[in-house]
Amino acid sequence: MTKPQVKCPTCQKKKVWSSDNPFRPFCSERCKLIDLGAWANEEYQIPEAKSASDYSSGENEEHVDRDGPIPQDPETMH
Ligand SMILES: [Zn+2]
Repeated sequence: MTKPQVKCPTCQKKKVWSSDNPFRPFCSERCKLIDLGAWANEEYQIPEAKSASDYSSGENEEHVDRDGPIPQDPETMH
């Protein structure tokens, strides 16, 4: 019987799956923390992106305007 192997999402190392491993599917606590850190980093990138779009907020509003009120045919309005 072969033991199931899992690939650690962080370091891509193949590890024998063990239900004793509290860090699965990661191979170690370190890899788990790295993955959690990656998620936190992504969260940190959101405010950065906001400030980037803030730089061209006028352009953004224009986009919303164009997407929002779609000119209707006067005939269908009746
Ligand atoms: Zn790992």
